[in-house]
Amino acid sequence: KPLRLPSGKNIEISACIGGATVPASFKDAVNPVRRAEIALEKAKANGTGCYAIFEDQWLSEYQQKRSREQELLDALSNKELIPYYQPIIEAKTGRVAGMEALARWNHPTKGVLAPFHFLPLATEMRIMPQLDELMIRRVFNDIGQHPQIKSLTWIAINLSSEQLFSNSLVSMLRSLLAEHEIPKNLVELEIVEELISHDTRIVTEQLQAIGALGIKLSIDDFGTGYSSLSRLKHLPVSKLKIDKSFVDGLPSDDSDCCIASSIVGMAKGLGINLVAEGVETQEQARWLTDQACDYLQGYLYAKPMPLDQIIDFINKSNKKRTKIS
Ligand code: C2E
Ligand code: CA
Ligand code: CA
Repeated sequence: KPLRLPSGKNIEISACIGGATVPASFKDAVNPVRRAEIALEKAKANGTGCYAIFEDQWLSEYQQKRSREQELLDALSNKELIPYYQPIIEAKTGRVAGMEALARWNHPTKGVLAPFHFLPLATEMRIMPQLDELMIRRVFNDIGQHPQIKSLTWIAINLSSEQLFSNSLVSMLRSLLAEHEIPKNLVELEIVEELISHDTRIVTEQLQAIGALGIKLSIDDFGTGYSSLSRLKHLPVSKLKIDKSFVDGLPSDDSDCCIASSIVGMAKGLGINLVAEGVETQEQARWLTDQACDYLQGYLYAKPMPLDQIIDFINKSNKKRTKIS
């Protein structure tokens, strides 16, 4: 039966069962319990109200998973997680206006791994706050050491929902800003649109506290979530990023054109800058520029790259522009 709290709220109770059968002669008391736990994990993965009985082949799967988890924890402490940077171009002028930091795992044997190899595991392990904090620290460090980066209008860092809800986020950001003497307004945090649709006081307060530090916010993957548009007006948001899925079909797909131009119109109306993500062709860039989209990001200009290469990229593009002007 549901539990009834004093506030009147009902809490539904559910259960999953994991079991293991062992021969009566089995002497080791730990193993059967461990096996039942592994079965319980399987049962939970199938949803509430399920049960599972241990099968032998799950043991090696379990051990492999534990070793991948340990490897990721080691990577966090060995600083194998590093930021790559992708430039963001001002549509009107072609200059490098900003860049986005994207996590990479510099794996000792497998080479440089993209986030889809490790973020799902990090999320499952609930270590996204640590991973995001490490990235924020590394990016701040990079900015502090390379004055060229300060010539950009902004540097974006991705923030997971777990990190956004962390109590220590604002104080960590405040002390890092002071420690690295980073100009106000240079740093921008990207949060996914889905997050702001949670109409909770905590999200609003946290976003406003971040805004009060001078840090800007942008809404990532815009168009894929269910944000109540009226909420945007009340949040310190300076950019929307049109999701790549709407950019892909430009300029031939009528519905993508319609969605992209409505997002442009809305952003203009609200006085919010717009970045289009995943721009891969000249035709997409031209169409977006004609629609007055402010910034473009995508493989057409550059893929994410390590720090030394992005510094070169910024220097070269600034030089080219000085020559032109
Ligand atoms: P995102 O924030 O939407 O980042 C954009 C992704 O699109 C990046 O993938 C980027 O490399 C890729 N991309 C950019 N331009 C193009 C293009 O023209 N074509 C194609 N096909 N792809 C393009 P990446 O680096 O693999 O990152 C994937 C996702 O992982 C990111 O999506 C973000 O959600 C997450 N992520 C990456 N780094 C971090 C991090 O430090 N913290 C958190 N919380 N999430 C991160
Ligand atoms: Ca992003
Ligand atoms: Ca995105």
